[in-house]
Amino acid sequence: MNFEYSDKVKELIAQVRDFIDNEVVPAEPTYEEQLAKNPWETPPVLDQLKEKAKAKGLWNLFLPREHGDFTAGLTNLEYAPLAELMGRHHIASEAFNCAAPDTGNMEVLAKYGNAQQQEQWLKPLLEGKIRSAFAMTEPEVASSDATNIETSITRDGDDYVINGRKFYISGAMRKSCEIMIVMGKTDPDNPNRHQQQSQILVPTKTPGVTVKRAMQVLGSVDAPEGHAEVIFENVRVPKENIILGEGRGFEIAQGRLGPGRIHHCMRLIGASQRALELMCKRANERVVFGQPMIKHGSVREDIAKSACEIEQARLLTLKAADAMDRYGNKEAKELIAMIKIIAPNMALRVIDRAMQIHGAVGLSQDTPLAGFFAYARTLRLADGPDQVHMMQLGRNLAKQLG
Ligand SMILES: Cc1cc2nc3c(=O)[nH]c(=O)nc-3n(C[C@H](O)[C@H](O)[C@H](O)COP(=O)(O)OP(=O)(O)OC[C@H]3O[C@@H](n4cnc5c(N)ncnc54)[C@H](O)[C@@H]3O)c2cc1C
Repeated sequence: MNFEYSDKVKELIAQVRDFIDNEVVPAEPTYEEQLAKNPWETPPVLDQLKEKAKAKGLWNLFLPREHGDFTAGLTNLEYAPLAELMGRHHIASEAFNCAAPDTGNMEVLAKYGNAQQQEQWLKPLLEGKIRSAFAMTEPEVASSDATNIETSITRDGDDYVINGRKFYISGAMRKSCEIMIVMGKTDPDNPNRHQQQSQILVPTKTPGVTVKRAMQVLGSVDAPEGHAEVIFENVRVPKENIILGEGRGFEIAQGRLGPGRIHHCMRLIGASQRALELMCKRANERVVFGQPMIKHGSVREDIAKSACEIEQARLLTLKAADAMDRYGNKEAKELIAMIKIIAPNMALRVIDRAMQIHGAVGLSQDTPLAGFFAYARTLRLADGPDQVHMMQLGRNLAKQLG
């Protein structure tokens, strides 16, 4: 395995780094000021960043080469170092139109959407004009097992009628969230539990859709995207809004989650790397008990352990990305599961050490560490809790190796 980057990727790394340093970082204070005034609106400064990134061709870098017309033409392996750079700064992914959940939704529409769905929803998403959400999780059932989902999608003439309650729907609080991909059941009595579900496009402004409240993540509403509770009451959409066909929802969910999961891992490695750099800076500068912190053995150990763990996760992520490119997402599923288990836990350990070395300010709004921590903690649950990945990975490995 050769992880040496091509000249094209080296050039992109330099361009993305330069854009982050010279455009994104200086815009961060303005972003925070604008956000405080209008929490559920995209701060105008972010729209300006998006226009600049688009003009430079640093746009939609996440979409793998196989999607032809729509893509920046990168493989997963080529995208990995770019996503890592984006993960270092909260708003960077969105500046390049590479932010979840839009990335996963665009991938679904590119892969499974028909021409009309692509024209109506994929195009404005790729242009960065609207935002989207993916609505699967429900408060009433254990949603880590998608076969439990209870929202009903019932055919009525030329329409489907949707009823159900979802929560933690990322992005749905934002005013520019115009479209949701909703997972529900069209055939709850199908003996095949994996053919009961469908995914359907629901414009957020459809009558009967109520975005009820912002769920918190460790005490923050995580504006401007937010993680909404959404109620669907007799929501009527045309039958053409179904994606791929009735009963294909589970299959689409599986297809969506592979790339989405590894993208999160790439960003987490970036966040962890930045936490390590902040840890080193603080350890060099801060004097405790008569000497710089870096002179204390335990601080050196924290730094060394963090560097080792980040590099392990980085290499495994690259290996998984390479396997996805060469053998397909399905064949790479075990490596994807491994990295989805490893990366958030690694990030939590590294960020926690960085917080400790910073003292109180490590938990404050004056460093990015608290935001990174909440993101990493979320990813021990979102896109499948650790235990679900371990259950499936353990089962598959026992079959192969036992
Ligand atoms: C910030 C945030 C953003 C999110 N964004 C979205 C979104 O945009 N769209 C969306 O649909 N959902 C989203 N989610 C929801 C997330 O995907 C779910 O929380 C997750 O799938 C788990 O479902 P659940 O909460 O119902 O937990 P449950 O299914 O009730 O599981 C609870 C716990 O049970 C344990 N468990 C489960 N299976 C096993 C097992 N086999 N063995 C042992 N223990 C097990 C695990 O510890 C698990 O955490 C988000 C969540 C958060 C926190």
